[in-house]
Amino acid sequence: MLIPSNVCFYNYFPGIIYILVIMLILNKTVQVFFKPSKRKVDGFLRSFNFHPGTLFLHKIVLGIETSCDDTAAAVVDETGNVLGEAIHSQTEVHLKTGGIIPPVAQQLHRENIQRIVQEALCASGICPSELSAIATTIKPGLALSLGVGLSFSLQLVDQLKKPFIPIHHMEAHALTIRLTNKVEFPFLVLLISGGHCLLALVRGVSDFLLLGKSLDIAPGDMLDKVARRLSLIKHPECSTMSGGKAIEHLAKQGNRFHFDMNPPMQRAKNCDFSFTGLQHVIDKIIMQKEKEEGIEKGQILSSAADIAAAVQHTTACHIAKRTHRAILFCKQRDLLSQSNAVLVVSGGVASNLYIRRALEIVTNATQCTLLCPPPRLCTDNGIMIAWNGIERLRAGLGILDNIEGIRYEPKCPLGVDISKEVAEAAIKVPRLKMKI
Ligand code: ADP
Ligand code: MG
Repeated sequence: MLIPSNVCFYNYFPGIIYILVIMLILNKTVQVFFKPSKRKVDGFLRSFNFHPGTLFLHKIVLGIETSCDDTAAAVVDETGNVLGEAIHSQTEVHLKTGGIIPPVAQQLHRENIQRIVQEALCASGICPSELSAIATTIKPGLALSLGVGLSFSLQLVDQLKKPFIPIHHMEAHALTIRLTNKVEFPFLVLLISGGHCLLALVRGVSDFLLLGKSLDIAPGDMLDKVARRLSLIKHPECSTMSGGKAIEHLAKQGNRFHFDMNPPMQRAKNCDFSFTGLQHVIDKIIMQKEKEEGIEKGQILSSAADIAAAVQHTTACHIAKRTHRAILFCKQRDLLSQSNAVLVVSGGVASNLYIRRALEIVTNATQCTLLCPPPRLCTDNGIMIAWNGIERLRAGLGILDNIEGIRYEPKCPLGVDISKEVAEAAIKVPRLKMKI
C-alpha cells in the first residue's frame, strides 16, 4: 500500500464526511450529534469554501516531480496556498560523480518517493481522500526518472480513485509565476536551467508559442561542464555548490576583461541559443592557461575566477540578446502589450543575479516588467507541479479519469513552434550597453 489508508479517519468513513458537511451547512449544532477532534474538523473545513447559499468544493492537488534529479512533492490549494511540501535533492551525489547517471537517479527516486509524498501529505494536514486530483510530471525529462514518478502516481491514483493530471515540466515552470504574482496571460517566459533553454509566449494554461530554444545544450549544463573542467569542486568556497552557482560565486572575484569571448550566434537573427561552441572556446582557454601556469588538469588555475567572470558575462549577453529579440518580435506582432508586457524568467540558471541584471537592462529598454519566482521555485519542485494541476483543474484541461495507456515522454516540445517565423522576421536588435 502506497499511502497507509489509516492515516485518516475519513478514509474509512467517506459517507459520514458528506453527511457531516450537509449537517454543518444546515445545522451548526452538529457537535450535538458528533464530536470529531479539532484537527480533523479544521482539515475537513479547509477543503470547503462556504458561500451564501452554495457549497463550493475547494480544489486541492498533490503534485509529484521526478523528471530529473529531484524527488519532490507538494500539496497546493486553488488559492495558491502551499499546504505541504517535501523534496529530496540528488545534487550532492551527482556532484561527486561529475554529472547525472540516469540509473543512479532512478534508484534514488525509488528510494525516496514514498517518503517524500508522505511527508508532503502529512505536512499539509489533509488526508488523501480530500485531494481533488494528483498531478505528476510525465514529460520531458530522463526516461528512468520520469518512470519512477509516473508508476508511483498511477498506483496512488488507483488506490485513492482520484483524477490524474499529466504535467509537462516546462509548462509547470512557466506557470509558477501565477502562484506567486498576479500575472495575466499573455506573457513571455524564458526558461533557463540545467536541462532546458527556451523562450515562449504563454497565451493560456496550455497555449504556448515557442519562439526559440537551445540548438545544443542548456546554459546550466554548459556552466556545470565549465565548473567541472575548472575543478571548482576542489575550491574551498565552492565544494558544495552546483556548477552554475560556483561560477557565479567565483566570478565576483574575477575580472572578465582578462578574456575575450564572443557571444554565440551573433549573426543569426532568431531567438535560438547555443552553448556548445562557447564551452569549447573555454576548454581551449583552460588548456592554454594550464600550459602557461604549468599545472595539471584537475588543479585549480590562478585565473579560474577571471574565466568564471568572462563565461558568466558572455552567457548573460547571449541570453539577453535572444530575449530582447523575442520581446521585439512579440510587440511587432501585437502578441504582447506595447507598454505593459511581462517577461518571466525561471529555471535554476534564473537564480543567477548577474544574468538577471542583464535581463533587467533589456526589460528597462523595452518597457517590460521582469518577474522571477523565488529561487526555491525556480529550480525543480513539487509546488509548481501541484499548481499546474490547479491551473488545469480550473481550466478543465487534461484531467483524466481513465489512466490506461498513459506513458512518459522523455522528449516533448512545448507548444506550437513558430521559431521559423521569428527567424524570417530577422529583427535587428539595438545594441545595449551591458554594464552590469
Ligand atoms: P534541471 O532540472 O533542468 O537540471 P534545475 O532547474 O534543477 O535544472 O537547475 C539546475 C541548474 O541550474 C544547474 O545546471 C545549475 O548549475 C544551475 N544553477 C543553479 N544555480 C545557479 C546560479 N546561481 N547561476 C547559474 N546557474 C545556476
Ligand atoms: Mg533539477
